[in-house]
Amino acid sequence: MLIYVVTQYIVVILPLEVLGLKCPFCNNNEDKVIDSRPIDESSVIRRRRECLKCNKRFTTYERLEEMPLMVIKKDNKREIYDRSKLRQGLVIACTKRSVSIDQIEKITNEIEDELKDFIMEVPSKIIGELVLKRLKKLDEVAYVRFASIYREFDNVDAFKNELDELKKKE
Ligand SMILES: [Zn+2]
Repeated sequence: MLIYVVTQYIVVILPLEVLGLKCPFCNNNEDKVIDSRPIDESSVIRRRRECLKCNKRFTTYERLEEMPLMVIKKDNKREIYDRSKLRQGLVIACTKRSVSIDQIEKITNEIEDELKDFIMEVPSKIIGELVLKRLKKLDEVAYVRFASIYREFDNVDAFKNELDELKKKE
């Protein structure tokens, strides 16, 4: 997180660790927040603070730095998580099925929500499983198509077993 401290005349841009959120006037590290509001649609929050020691007021602009999520691929190489790739995979799996773009968008959002639990890295296998979990409920054909790519079935039998499992549930 970066903190932008604005006093009457100067703007100081410092990482939170360096600043330790101290009063820019007396260095005291205790303050109370008087007012707190997000700025427009951004991830910046403006906070009006008052030092508990010298009672002077200052403003911080706190911005959550977004760290890119890295996807660990099967060969252990990393690549930056890419929403459009996830959506593309879903679109291909759902080609000529009665799945709407809205539904695909909804699934993509749900998966991204779950990915928020991962800090910095997530194995591609987990993303694949999250997709499969949802496609299974939504459309069997799309599910099998996606499974055949993501699980990379070792042989035809493994793939056939998966299909049989699905048929049993019908
Ligand atoms: Zn102070």
